[in-house]
Amino acid sequence: MEKIIDGKVIAAKIREEIAAGVAVLKAKGVTPGLAVVLVGDDPASQVYVSMKEKACAAAGIFSDEHKLPKETTEAQLLALVDELNRDERIDGILVQLPLPKQIDEGKVLEAISPKKDVDGFHPYNVGRLVTGNPLFQPCTPYGIMKMIEHTGIDLTGKEVVVVGRSNIVGKPVALMCLAQHATVTLCHSRTRDLAAQVAKADVLIAAVGRAEMIKGSWIKPGAVVIDVGVNRVGDKKLVGDVEFDAALERAGAITPVPGGVGPMTITMLLYNTLESAKRRVKG
Ligand code: NDP
Repeated sequence: MEKIIDGKVIAAKIREEIAAGVAVLKAKGVTPGLAVVLVGDDPASQVYVSMKEKACAAAGIFSDEHKLPKETTEAQLLALVDELNRDERIDGILVQLPLPKQIDEGKVLEAISPKKDVDGFHPYNVGRLVTGNPLFQPCTPYGIMKMIEHTGIDLTGKEVVVVGRSNIVGKPVALMCLAQHATVTLCHSRTRDLAAQVAKADVLIAAVGRAEMIKGSWIKPGAVVIDVGVNRVGDKKLVGDVEFDAALERAGAITPVPGGVGPMTITMLLYNTLESAKRRVKG
């Protein structure tokens, strides 16, 4: 097992496979299409949206960009989603979160057709994940699973400890590990003795958002450590939720921050869009 799990390298390999899959569909006259909807002018969201567009272009995926003003009403956004649901060129619809406060996020996510819900946030897709029959799996946890797969570790019977229980990372990744027959512990802010929980992990997944809160000395020797956290310290430096240098000494393999989970998220968005387009071809 390589000690550093390099998200950039794994993502590049998957993106090559995606580009090849897109080329196969194009030869059959079908271009996968992703609609990206951005409401307002949140700077971080603008960066994410432009990264998604570039990634689509590189993979040969048609990206249909919709930038709406921050005053957009819920009804206007729902009307656009409805139009995209019916647009045959579109295989995936992504509404960039967060949305301005006059718009009910839950309502918008539920309005997206579950068959185009490449973010995997629609309750239908959440339900399918829970019942072990997923259609679209959310991108960050799906990317984490691809990284774990890359290490070659078989999760059957392993102790997986997930720290953080958000709907976008912690909860879905716990379900995905459960589906692969791991024994899963889901920790959160009320967990007692986090150090003791972390110490039993064969695979640790940290998704908290607190700089280096998980100490290297807590890590079980040989464990696989996936650090989802992205925390800015000082002006420029980004660090994860795990104390990297100390954890590196004990872990069997570990993801860096940046360059770990980050590059996988957009990759899995492209992957889901391609899968959706393949289903369109099959009918
Ligand atoms: P949320 O803020 O939604 O969830 C954080 C979770 O951490 C909560 O469940 C919270 O518990 C838990 N938590 C907070 N404090 C503690 C503590 N002291 N001990 C144990 N658990 C604690 O975050 P997200 O899941 O959205 O994101 C987590 C991190 O991952 C962030 O740094 C984010 O930037 C990053 N991220 C990175 C992505 C990527 O592509 N690389 C994508 C998505 C997220 P409780 O529920 O009890 O409040």
